[in-house]
Amino acid sequence: MIQYFKNVWSGFSSSLVGMHITFKHLFVKKVTIQYPDQRFDLPQNARNRLKLTMSRCNGCNSCVVACPVNCILVETVRVSPDDPHQEVHDNGKPRIMWVTKYEIDFAKCCYCGLCMQACPTDAINHTTEYEYSEYDRNKLYYKFQTLTPEQVTEKERLLAEFKAKDKDKDCKTTAAKADPKPTKPDQAEK
Ligand code: SF4
Ligand code: SF4
Repeated sequence: MIQYFKNVWSGFSSSLVGMHITFKHLFVKKVTIQYPDQRFDLPQNARNRLKLTMSRCNGCNSCVVACPVNCILVETVRVSPDDPHQEVHDNGKPRIMWVTKYEIDFAKCCYCGLCMQACPTDAINHTTEYEYSEYDRNKLYYKFQTLTPEQVTEKERLLAEFKAKDKDKDCKTTAAKADPKPTKPDQAEK
């Protein structure tokens, strides 16, 4: 019988403790928000979706090497000196490589920020954007390149033509060195 009243008191007192905590929180500032109608402002250095600024990217591949989960793919084509469209980076340096492919698989990305630290031109950065969930994993594969497939083909063609021209020039120079014109005997004696 005594045990029965002890159990009743124990249940009642624990309810009082719980109610006391609830009552206290009626008068403190709220820390929860009504998402998605309301959102927290994230700090500027929050690591969320990555953004690439193509005008800064020189295709150096440092981000690819730094990425621990191998989720960045970069492909480049050297800019041909004969290309009528010679571009200048944001820092004023001429573009050496066209970035023909720049893709990130956000389904694999662990938001470590190593790509950002490895980038010498500050081309890749985290943003504060965190609402990009998808039902289809393929939609998390982001393509950042700005050149169209036709433009990539054109850049490759221009470079191939320049290389062929350069090789031809090299062959002629080598042939001229290997077979110099004979000097006249009277000139040789002088
Ligand atoms: S944040 Fe980390 S995992 Fe994501 S792309 Fe950059 S290096 Fe790779
Ligand atoms: S994002 Fe930066 S590190 Fe990556 S290829 Fe471009 S310039 Fe290099």
